[in-house]
Amino acid sequence: MINVTKTFLPPFEEYTTQLKRAWDKAWITNNGELAHELEELLKKYLNLDHLLYAANGTIVLQLALKALEITGEVITTPFSYVATTTALLWENCTPVFVDINDRNFCIDENKIEAAITPKTQAILATHVYGHPCNIAAIEKIASKHRLKVIYDAAHAFGTQYNGNSVFNYGDVSTCSFHATKVFHTGEGGCMVAKDPVIAEKLMLYRQFGHIGEDYYTMGINAKNSEMHAAMGLCNLKYIDDILLKRKQVWEHYAESLKNHDLQILEIDGNVSYNYAYFPVVFTCEEQLLEAVTDLNAKGIIPRRYFNPSLNKLPYVDYAPCPVAESIASRVLCLPLFYELATEDQDKIINSIVNTKSIAKKCA
Ligand SMILES: *Cc1c(COP(=O)(O)O)cnc(C)c1O
Repeated sequence: MINVTKTFLPPFEEYTTQLKRAWDKAWITNNGELAHELEELLKKYLNLDHLLYAANGTIVLQLALKALEITGEVITTPFSYVATTTALLWENCTPVFVDINDRNFCIDENKIEAAITPKTQAILATHVYGHPCNIAAIEKIASKHRLKVIYDAAHAFGTQYNGNSVFNYGDVSTCSFHATKVFHTGEGGCMVAKDPVIAEKLMLYRQFGHIGEDYYTMGINAKNSEMHAAMGLCNLKYIDDILLKRKQVWEHYAESLKNHDLQILEIDGNVSYNYAYFPVVFTCEEQLLEAVTDLNAKGIIPRRYFNPSLNKLPYVDYAPCPVAESIASRVLCLPLFYELATEDQDKIINSIVNTKSIAKKCA
């Protein structure tokens, strides 16, 4: 069986070697030596002044909203993983969905201003599939209307925008290090804030709002453990290989599928992409379903990321986002991971190409 992703794992002995460090000190959490070292190495790798390692890619969104004191309407994307929306709801914010563009599926910057009201406090946008939003345009709108900007960069580890880590942008950028992501620590995430005051708040929130016996603010438990940090220390050594392999797989898909009436992601010229996902957009949903049936019969399990469009969740106020709804119904993410063999990839490509040529169902 070939799944949409397969978690990268380092050689087992490398993991136990890192774990031994925690064992020897009998210190397995509370921002221990391994977690601290991982933060330092991530900062160095990403060329960032500041980064906080945390429990997952969801709680960091919630802490960002708290630290920036966002309570009102937040302009956000309907095309993301559900956590982007639920983080807002969990923090008692009101998501206001703005439709996406149909080239890279990020929030459509040209539609943001029309959605701003006196209650709007922030923009929460996702660099979906690891491709950055139009950051320059969003920055301009945010400063004109005095809005905070949070980027859900859960997919974007290793992506660069204008030559810098994409985590450098926004008031806060967050990432997920979940086992399915490009760089992972099993469970995990991080947050990056430009303003030292916000960074300090995030650090305190992560550990119940206190340092030793000094209690500064309310907080929560968003720390991560030494066992998770150990996985990160191992995986970080392989990240360049992982990114390179993903690029090769991605480009082979792109080359093989480009002349088949399928839409693939367009990468902007100022972006160095991390090749996190290979989404392919069919002409209609019937064609997608047919492709999925064919792939499943061959033991290949792609995923309908992201479907449904988040504005259609049963617990939000529906507002139409025709582009996101249309893309969500027609997009499929193909298997893309470090160990994917070329012959398996060719099986996937052939299956899709053949589905396309026989499917004449799209009106
Ligand atoms: C994975 C993901 C998250 C949540 O990250 P976890 O580490 O699983 O909590 C948030 N946003 C997006 C866009 C994601 O893909």
